[in-house]
Amino acid sequence: MPGAGILILFARRKKTVPYTYKLDHPQKARLSDYDPDYHAGMRKEEAEEELAYLRDELADLQELLYGAGTHSVLIVLQGRDTSGKDGTIKHVMANINPQGCQVTSFKAPTPDELAHDFLWRIHRHTPAKGMIGIFNRSHYEDVLVVRVHRLAPESVWKKRFDHIDDFERMLADHNTILIKLCLHISKNEQKERLLAREEDPAKAWKLAAGDWQERPYWDAYTEAYEDALGRCASLQAPWHIVPANHKWFRNLAVAHTLVETLQPYRQEWQSALDETGRKALAELRGVKARLGEG
Ligand code: AMP
Ligand code: MG
Repeated sequence: MPGAGILILFARRKKTVPYTYKLDHPQKARLSDYDPDYHAGMRKEEAEEELAYLRDELADLQELLYGAGTHSVLIVLQGRDTSGKDGTIKHVMANINPQGCQVTSFKAPTPDELAHDFLWRIHRHTPAKGMIGIFNRSHYEDVLVVRVHRLAPESVWKKRFDHIDDFERMLADHNTILIKLCLHISKNEQKERLLAREEDPAKAWKLAAGDWQERPYWDAYTEAYEDALGRCASLQAPWHIVPANHKWFRNLAVAHTLVETLQPYRQEWQSALDETGRKALAELRGVKARLGEG
């Protein structure tokens, strides 16, 4: 039975080694408390093997989510430039059925978007029931880059923590499972990655002068991230701080977090799916009986 290995592996690791740091209630968060180099004492090969299992598990859970149609899943990906948001989507979601998944990348707002409240452009991309929505950056930019670069006065962005809490609670009340991931890298690692982009022609397309220009704001971003993480952490919309200096561990940690969050719904989704199947069969039998085809 191919699934048995993963269950044992999963149960063993889940209890003993947390892969991400979870914040599930408001608190004072300090990024320096979390080691971006952390890798749970694992080797790369070991992590890749486990990631392969978890990717299959995720695909399995997605199918149930889609079939049951009772919940939606919203994955929020945040992190500094080069922290690996794109890489995470590529590597962790590799086995996901594209029909049940929608990725939205949020860039600097257009004039039309700026003429509305900050959640207007976000809300229209939240996932429908049965779907997984992935936000590559999100409404959190409105308390991060906006705060750091004073794109709005404090009196405006400060109120947004409450707006975000209310918005996320509303989504959760509508059966949205929220998984918020903050990819945590060190300042040194960021420099290495920016330099690597310059040196490797295959990576040069990702270069953005803006990324270097953001580096002097490192500490201001730290402060903004700490407030956003600590202020908007709740049971229904927890933050996970992902150690992301090692790309291979980051992928594993994210996959593990997704599976761990969705796994408890497996039984419920399976039952909903079975019930739908029973109803469809009963209806079909009725139709066939009426047509004399029974
Ligand atoms: P990238 O993710 O590298 O494609 O870059 C997207 C850029 O859009 C980043 O520099 C973000 O800070 C910026 N951005 C995203 N959302 C907002 C926002 N609400 N206000 C201002 N800039 C934003
Ligand atoms: Mg960028």
